[in-house]
Amino acid sequence: MRAVQITETGGPEVLTVVDVEPPRPGPGEVLVAVEAAGVNFIDTYRRGGVYPLQLPAILGSEGAGRVLSTGEGVAGFADGQLVAWKEAPGSYAEQVVVPARELVAVPEGVDARQAAAVMLQGLTAHYLATSTYAAGRGTAALVHAAAGGVGLLLTQMLVLRGARVLATCSPAKADLARGAGAERVVDYADVPAAAREFTDGRGVDVVYDSVGKDTFDASLDALRTRGLMVLYGGSSGQVPPFDVQTLNAKGGLFLTRPSLVQYATDPAELAARTEEVFGWISAGRLDVRIGHTYALAEARRAHEDLEGRRTTGKLLLLP
Ligand code: NDP
Repeated sequence: MRAVQITETGGPEVLTVVDVEPPRPGPGEVLVAVEAAGVNFIDTYRRGGVYPLQLPAILGSEGAGRVLSTGEGVAGFADGQLVAWKEAPGSYAEQVVVPARELVAVPEGVDARQAAAVMLQGLTAHYLATSTYAAGRGTAALVHAAAGGVGLLLTQMLVLRGARVLATCSPAKADLARGAGAERVVDYADVPAAAREFTDGRGVDVVYDSVGKDTFDASLDALRTRGLMVLYGGSSGQVPPFDVQTLNAKGGLFLTRPSLVQYATDPAELAARTEEVFGWISAGRLDVRIGHTYALAEARRAHEDLEGRRTTGKLLLLP
């Protein structure tokens, strides 16, 4: 089968398409024919060595496809069934082995591309909007990179829950953020003044910041007294070590740095979040924007585009 492999860490040029033996499912595992593999920022961190991998490694973690065969002890999945997953190393490939506990069945009304697009970014948006901060009617939220993969989904979910969204993104992408329901879209440089204006001087209740190094300080200044700063990524680089007294000086703020793994490890929690997200898609309440699709051989370009800020919405590799 064809797969996208790295033998060393580095820039997008280390991504190489190779022919390898297909994997075999062990006990508790399922072999899947990949129909769409999600491209995520975390794949670039792994490629670059920020999160170490044992090499050589086939990249990718998220996807959707059809069950080919099941290993010993697997129940509840049938050959040919459409399934999706957020975490199966080696998903940039024609076939991948997925632990059965990671697999979810894709219901009628959701196709493979939509499913692959929301397993990582959609579930992330879901836990951010519902659990990290239980946004509701009247919540004022600032969403950075609102036209991105997580950003477009998070903006829609916040609005679904009755929140008001102030968004940032590149000016050329502003219409997309507005289309997702953002009430106001501003340039990164205009935070925090825009946050005060948006809330009659008070500051927003919560900031969702995935940009990190370049936006962190302004994000803190956008918050109300006792507001919540959710730092969930570092698309511009990681935030340097931080003096916690700053939280006191800026209004008794709260700061959290969550990951999806803490909000979807329990199979019941994973199932509940997935069910709600798939339900919104099939009911037409959540628009999944597939911004760009690439062949496996174009994985390098997909990473260059993502890191180069040339993308909107979800990126998929189609084996
Ligand atoms: P995006 O589609 O959001 O792409 C990143 C976007 O960030 C760019 O398109 C760009 O939008 C914006 N950006 C601002 N500054 C920079 C910069 N210096 N370099 C690159 N991009 C920049 O990616 P994803 O949706 O895949 O991921 C978004 C972030 O969320 C990532 O940091 C990722 O690690 C994190 N994440 C965290 C998870 C968690 O559970 N903690 C889970 C999933 C993702 P614009 O041009 O509009 O500024």
